[in-house]
Amino acid sequence: MTAFDRDFTMTIDGQGLAGAARMPVLNPATETVVASAPLCSEAELDAAVAAARAAFPGWRATPIETRRAAVRRIGEVIGANMADFTRLFTLEQGRPLAKASEELMGAAFWAGHVATQDIPVLVSEDTPERRAETRRVPIGVVGAIVPWNFPMLLGVWKIAGALLTGNTLVIKPSPFTPLTMLKLGELMRPHLPPGVLNVVSGGDALGPWMTAHSGIDKVSFTGSTATGKRVMASAAQSLKRITLELGGNDAAIVLGDVDVAAVAAPLFWSAFVNSGQVCIATKRLYVHDTVYDALAAELTAIAERVRMGDGLAPGSELGPIQNRPQYDRVRALIADARDAGLRFLTGGDVPDGKGYFIPVTLVDNPPEDSRVVAEEAFGPVLPLIRFTDVDDVIARANASHYGLAGSVWSADVDAAQAIAARLDTGTVWINEAQHVAPWLPFGGHKQSGIGIENGVEGLMEYTNAQTIMVRKPAVAA
Ligand code: NAD
Repeated sequence: MTAFDRDFTMTIDGQGLAGAARMPVLNPATETVVASAPLCSEAELDAAVAAARAAFPGWRATPIETRRAAVRRIGEVIGANMADFTRLFTLEQGRPLAKASEELMGAAFWAGHVATQDIPVLVSEDTPERRAETRRVPIGVVGAIVPWNFPMLLGVWKIAGALLTGNTLVIKPSPFTPLTMLKLGELMRPHLPPGVLNVVSGGDALGPWMTAHSGIDKVSFTGSTATGKRVMASAAQSLKRITLELGGNDAAIVLGDVDVAAVAAPLFWSAFVNSGQVCIATKRLYVHDTVYDALAAELTAIAERVRMGDGLAPGSELGPIQNRPQYDRVRALIADARDAGLRFLTGGDVPDGKGYFIPVTLVDNPPEDSRVVAEEAFGPVLPLIRFTDVDDVIARANASHYGLAGSVWSADVDAAQAIAARLDTGTVWINEAQHVAPWLPFGGHKQSGIGIENGVEGLMEYTNAQTIMVRKPAVAA
């Protein structure tokens, strides 16, 4: 028995394609099959890329206002099907319904906002001899690859930016969460010329086929740092343009002057929303010695109150880990902490039974070189680490090959700003965390990525610069 009486199809050249082979998609809360998805073959990928190439000249020549309307339509289609999308999202991704609908509303909002964005033309020279303008032109066929933790939001970021700027697209969701993106492809068929938006789903071979494909001009990838390196190596063979949004090990630095009761809940959720499976989750919590015990007590109390369960059950605030391999990785990290003799403030015992549930786990002041501090947990496990000296905590926060984001918490905003400026990360929040928006450039330093998503800088990643110079006629003296 599956929860759906239909199976999902890829969208290739405006047509639905069930694929010769199919793969099951599991509900991580119950480990039962939700539905099946196509296992795209290499020939089917070739067809999707050929369709995108054929559609490119027409789409780049389409007036920008028409392209804006198409991007806006993505948001309208999500909005008009919100209830179905939300339930499907929870079934395949695991996140509780209320949080699932936040992601879908976010995706719809994003499409609506990106539809209004522009890249200004730069007048780079305007002299009596010459006028030079630098414009941004589309690159061609974009291959977009997204992970399972935010399958719709991160997908729509790429679709909206690529289509607005005149590119065509082949997008691949994660094999663990393909259904919502396949459904979006199906619903968008009547609203786009064939080949402009192709949605393919498949197994482990499909991503590498895309990054090596000679018909793809640019890869926009979101996923782990390890995979990002493979994407970059493969894309180098044909010098494809790349945007890489990769992993993080974000530090939150909490100074001694905070109102502990006020910051405890936002700090808790900065680490544990989506059960910690967020690239920009707080993954190392540095707390000044003077407030460490009080904050640890508040966080422990919240952790013990929070309701974890099947995302379809009313009242669930946190869902399971999204998939079995990630569940095994997070369990191994907890086992390593236990074997190393580290102390848990709460959690640490993973229950038996169906579903990939791992309780919220707080680790008490582990050493910097413990795996739970040094590695990206990507699950509901958070180390709390004491500090006394600001220079020392900045050095510890920066002692990572990641540089995605971080946050500083203090009643003294100037002091917090001074710390923020010294963090080697693409984003720093002060007295909040995880805020992203379509107008805010987002990207990682160091091994957290290359390039930017969102804002004008994000749109530019889907373009090449083209400078056009006009020699002016000589003016008679
Ligand atoms: P992943 O790297 O395993 O997979 C990401 C995507 O790449 C999936 O669609 C997968 O099928 C595909 N893929 C796998 N191997 C590939 C290859 N060799 N070539 C091309 N594609 C390949 O990552 P994940 O486990 O799905 O996601 C979790 C990771 O993503 C975490 O590290 C997280 O921090 C990161 N992430 C980063 C951001 C960001 O914006 N910086 C956002 C969300 C998640």
